[in-house]
Amino acid sequence: MADSMQTVPILEVIAHQAELKTFILPRILDAAPGQFVAVWLPGVDEKPFAVSADGPETIQITVKAVGPFTRRLLNCRPGDRLGLRGPFGRGFTLMPDSLLIGGGIGNAPLRLLAQRLTERGLRYTWLAGARRAADLPFLGELQKNPAVRLFTDDGSVGHPGTVMTGWTDALAATPTPPRLVCGAGPEPMLLAVREAARLHRLPVELSFERYMKCGIGLCGQCCLDGSGLRLCVEGPILTEEQMQGVTEWGLPPRGPSGRRPATTPKATRP
Ligand SMILES: Cc1cc2nc3c(=O)[nH]c(=O)nc-3n(C[C@H](O)[C@H](O)[C@H](O)COP(=O)(O)OP(=O)(O)OC[C@H]3O[C@@H](n4cnc5c(N)ncnc54)[C@H](O)[C@@H]3O)c2cc1C
Repeated sequence: MADSMQTVPILEVIAHQAELKTFILPRILDAAPGQFVAVWLPGVDEKPFAVSADGPETIQITVKAVGPFTRRLLNCRPGDRLGLRGPFGRGFTLMPDSLLIGGGIGNAPLRLLAQRLTERGLRYTWLAGARRAADLPFLGELQKNPAVRLFTDDGSVGHPGTVMTGWTDALAATPTPPRLVCGAGPEPMLLAVREAARLHRLPVELSFERYMKCGIGLCGQCCLDGSGLRLCVEGPILTEEQMQGVTEWGLPPRGPSGRRPATTPKATRP
């Protein structure tokens, strides 16, 4: 389907909590884990969301409220119509013995990755973390999956602490070293995963977010400073090699105008 938009009805809405919901939509496209779709809300805007599950007749997206678009989307009900374009970008590699590391809503794209790995009989370990239990989408599903270890900052479910506190144990517990580390979540978490992977000499693929517009690499909105990588085309999943030239890690993301909010840069490239 790629760049042509189709409007579809919302088939079902699963409320994980008031500000975190999964939308079940007709399967009009075929997305790889880590790829994203552009969702258009008539009269509001169009924004990118990862596909969080894929079935024979439906796909799912999982949405956390952070601003005007996501709040409006979370008010939608079954039968309301959305525009969909995609899938866009490059997804995760399906690799046996993968270590999946997700923070909060970043666990959404990892859910489709875990689904694909399971379907192919490929072994994986998934460290799924969030600030608190309520911020973990699909908690019941995660708790039933023996490949998953849960972490919450406040200890409300799983091990207390961040996913990075589980890193060393996970490495010690897996029968063979991970052949690929796949991460999705807040950028500080991704940079910590990148650093840990470098120390252990493990290949990584990390899912980054930037303000996106066209999704097809024409507008330049999501180009990464220092590299010219268009995150919507060459990403959103980046390898270590792709990350090396980028100079904007840790800086506030550019807004819709392309302007980066003024700040005193604290974080630098690891
Ligand atoms: C490839 C990709 C996949 C995504 N997948 C999902 C998903 O599966 N589920 C989900 O809930 N969200 C996902 N997002 C993020 C989602 O697109 C944003 O939350 C949404 O665009 C915010 O729109 P808004 O109008 O509600 O909030 P805005 O007013 O646009 O933003 C509210 C706040 O969030 C910040 N923000 C918004 N978008 C981003 C971003 N991309 N990176 C960093 N900070 C940002 C803004 O700076 C602002 O502080 C994804 C983003 C990308 C680029």
